[in-house]
Amino acid sequence: MVDIKITPIEESRISQVDFTSLVFGKEFSDYMFVCAYREGRWQQPEIKPYAPISLMPSASVFHYGQAVFEGMKAYKDEAGRVFLFRPWENYRRLNRSCERLAMPAFPEEWFDAGLKQLLGLDKEWIKQGVGNSLYIRPFMIATSAGVKASAATEYLFVIITSPVQSYYDGDVKVKIADYYSRAANGGFGYAKAAGNYAGQFFPTAEAAKEGYQQVMWTDDATHEFLEESGTMNLYFRIADKLITCPVSERILDGVTRKSILELAPRLGIETEVRKVRVQELIKASENGTLQEAFGCGTAAVVSPISGFGYKGKDYAIHRPKELYANKIKETILDIQYNRGEDPFGWREEVK
Ligand SMILES: *Cc1c(COP(=O)(O)O)cnc(C)c1O
Repeated sequence: MVDIKITPIEESRISQVDFTSLVFGKEFSDYMFVCAYREGRWQQPEIKPYAPISLMPSASVFHYGQAVFEGMKAYKDEAGRVFLFRPWENYRRLNRSCERLAMPAFPEEWFDAGLKQLLGLDKEWIKQGVGNSLYIRPFMIATSAGVKASAATEYLFVIITSPVQSYYDGDVKVKIADYYSRAANGGFGYAKAAGNYAGQFFPTAEAAKEGYQQVMWTDDATHEFLEESGTMNLYFRIADKLITCPVSERILDGVTRKSILELAPRLGIETEVRKVRVQELIKASENGTLQEAFGCGTAAVVSPISGFGYKGKDYAIHRPKELYANKIKETILDIQYNRGEDPFGWREEVK
C-alpha cells in the first residue's frame, strides 16, 4: 500500500458553492492529489488543499506540450455510497498516453489508492441524484526547467475534481471535416494528450461561425471515413443497426464506446464495428435509413446529433420516437448510480 501524506484544509469551501447551478468544470473541490517524478522515480504522493501550482517559466510543458489527461466521474447512490465506473480502464489508458508522449507511467495501484483517498476526503462534494456527479480530472505535465527540445526528466501527476450536474447542451449539429484533421497515421490521436485538443479549437470555431456546434472528424488521408467528434466517439443507427468505426491510432479508445458495444446486445440492439463512409451517411440520410447519430463519452454519456453539414450542404437525421441513445443512456446511468443490475461488474465502490 502506498503511503500518502495528507495536509488537511483549514476550512471547506463547500458552503460557497451553489450546487443547483453548476457550470461544467468551473468549481473544484477542497483537495487535490499530487505526486512528483524526479531522479527516475515517483516520489511520495500527497493530498493537499486545492491551490495553484508553481512552475519555472522554462518548464517543459509550456514549450513542448508534454501533457496528458484523463476524464472520469464518481457517483453517489441513494444510500450515500460512492462508485466509480470501470476506473482501471482510465488508469491503463493514462499510461498508454504517457508512453506515446515519452512520459513515465504512473503506477496504477497508486492512482487507484490516491483517487479513492481523495474521494473519501471530498465525498461531501458528490451529490446524490441522477445527473449529479464529481468529474475527476487526472493529468500529468512535464515540469523540468530548461528549454531544450527533448523529453523532460521531471513530471507532476495531479488529480483534481469538479462537481457537475447532468451535462446536456441540447442536440448538436455537426460539420463533417473535409479539410482539417484531428490526428494522423503514426501520430498520437489515440492518446488523451493536450495537443490533440489545442489543434481542434480553431477548426471548431470556424465551424461554429457556420452554425455547427462540433466538427465530425474524418481520416486525414482521404477525409472519406468518419472517425470521432470533439471529445466523443461516434455511433450511427442505420437501418436499425448501431454502427461504430473501429478504434485506430488516430482514435481515442473511449470507455463509453466500448461499454455501449458490450451493453447494446443485452438491450436487443444489433451492433457492428466497421468503417463508415461520409457518402454512406449522406445516402442513408437521403433514403431515410439514417435514424440516429450520437457522440458518446464520460461527460454526457451520449450526446444526440440532430443533423450534419458537408461541403456547404445540410443533411437531416430521421429520428424515430424510440431512440437507442435514450435506452443506452438510461441503462448506463442505472449502472453508474447503483440503481440497476451491473452484469459486467463495471461498478466499483469507493469504501
Ligand atoms: C475522452 C475522449 C473520448 C471518450 O472517452 P470516454 O472514455 O468514453 O470518456 C472520445 N474521444 C476523444 C477524443 C476523447 O478525448
